[in-house]
Amino acid sequence: MSKHTFSIGGVHPHDNKISRACAIEPLPLAPTVYLSMSQHIGAPAKPVVAVGDKVKVGQVVAEPGGFVSAFIHSSVSGTVKSIGPRKDLAGNPQTCIEIAVEGDEWLEGIDTTDTLITEIPADNKAILDKIRLGGVVGLGGATFPTHVKLSPPPGSKCERVIINGCECEPYLTSDFRTLLEKGEQVVVGAAILRQVMGNVPCTIAIEENKPEAIAHIQDVIGKLGYEGIEVMVMKMMYPQGGEKQLIDAVMHRQVGSGALPISVGAVVQNVATALAVYDAVQKNKPIVDNSVTVTGACAPKQANLLVRVGTPLRYILDYLGGVPEEAAKVISGGPMMGRAVANLDAATVKGTGALLLLTEKETRRAPASACIRCGKCADACPMGLEPFLLNRLVKANDLEQLEKNAAQDCIECGCCLYSCPAHIPLLDNIRMGKGAVLGAIRARAAAAKAAAEAAKK
Ligand code: SF4
Ligand code: SF4
Repeated sequence: MSKHTFSIGGVHPHDNKISRACAIEPLPLAPTVYLSMSQHIGAPAKPVVAVGDKVKVGQVVAEPGGFVSAFIHSSVSGTVKSIGPRKDLAGNPQTCIEIAVEGDEWLEGIDTTDTLITEIPADNKAILDKIRLGGVVGLGGATFPTHVKLSPPPGSKCERVIINGCECEPYLTSDFRTLLEKGEQVVVGAAILRQVMGNVPCTIAIEENKPEAIAHIQDVIGKLGYEGIEVMVMKMMYPQGGEKQLIDAVMHRQVGSGALPISVGAVVQNVATALAVYDAVQKNKPIVDNSVTVTGACAPKQANLLVRVGTPLRYILDYLGGVPEEAAKVISGGPMMGRAVANLDAATVKGTGALLLLTEKETRRAPASACIRCGKCADACPMGLEPFLLNRLVKANDLEQLEKNAAQDCIECGCCLYSCPAHIPLLDNIRMGKGAVLGAIRARAAAAKAAAEAAKK
C-alpha cells in the first residue's frame, strides 16, 4: 500500500505511544467544574446563567459572543456557584462558570444511549444549526467554531473533506482510541460532513503506525456502505497532521501564505471533531466531554480518560495516583506543540486532548551555542521557512523583515528546534517574532478599516 506524505521538511521523532493499549474509560465526576468562556478561537462566550441557578448536563450556560464564537454547555448537573475570573493553564485569568456537581442529570432530548444512528438528515441547514447549537469546535488543537468552517465564504467551494486521524504528535493516543472504539460514529460524522459540503469526496487520513485503526475504519466504511469515503494511509512523519501539510499530502495542493484551506478546496476536520459532529447531529449531544490521554514515562498510570469539560487538571492526575515527585513538567498536549501547564488547578477546555508528564532529564535542554550554519532547521521546516534567519531577525527586532520572510506562516511545529545541533531555542524565539508580526498586521488592518469608515462619512 503506498503511503502519502507532505512535500517539504518534517522530522521523525520517536512516537512513544505508550498509552496506545489504554481503552477510553470515563473519569468519575469531579466535585466542581469550571467552564471557561474562552474555549474556542474568537469572541469569548457570554454567560446566560446566574449564581444559584440549577443546571443539567447539556444545558446551555453561555452563548456565542460574536460570529466566530461558540455555545458552552454545562458538563454536569448541579448549582452555579460563581461566575468570574479564574486562571487558565497558562496562568491567565479567564471568565469561568463554577458549578458544584450534584448528580448526573441530563437535559431532556439528548440521546445518551449507544444506539448507532446511520441515517443522515437531508436538510443541510438544519445539520449546520445542530453543529452550531452543539458548541462544536475543532478539537485537533485550533478550536475554531466548526459551523463557521463549514460555511465557506462566497466564491469558494469545497472539493474534499479530510478527516485528520494522523495523530502525529508523539505520546498522544486519544484519536487512535477514538478511531478504534468509536469508529462507526466517526465515519457517520465524516458522512455528515461530506454531505454538508456538497457530497464531495472524503478522505480519512491515518498514519501507518496505527494499523488496527486503519483496518477497523476500512471495515466500518464497508459495513456502513457510505459512498465517497476512503481511508488514506499516511507515512509516519511529523507534522503529518498539520492542516497545510495534510492538504499537501492528500490533494497535492499548497495553501498560500495567510490563506485558508478552503482557498484550495479543502475542509479539514479532526477525528474527535467528526465524533462531536455525529453526537450533535444524530444524538442532540453538545460537547460536554472529551477524550484526554494522560501519559509520559513518569505518569502515575497511562490512561485515556473520557473527561467532562471543566474538570480541574489536578483532579484528573489525583485520580490516577497524583503527580509523582520526579515529574518536573506537565504539558497540555504533546511534546512538540504542547504548552507547559503553569497552574494545575486550571480546568480542562473542549480542546484539551492530553496531559504529558516529563521528568527533569526529559525536559532539560542542552546549552545553546552559536549557529554553525548547517541549514538543518531549514531542511526540517515544513513551511519552507528559514528558521536560522527568522531567529536572527527576532534578535534584531526587525519586524519588517520578519514579515517579509513569512514569520507569520510559522505553524509552531518545533521541527527546527528538534533538528538544531546548536540547541538554539528557535521555536521560542520565532513564536515571539510571529506574535509581534501578527500584532502589526492586525493593527494595520484595523487602521485601514477605520480610515475607510472615516472616508465614507
Ligand atoms: S516552528 Fe515554525 S519555523 Fe520552526 S520548523 Fe516549524 S514552521 Fe518552521
Ligand atoms: S539548525 Fe541550528 S545551527 Fe543549523 S543553521 Fe539552523 S539554527 Fe544554525
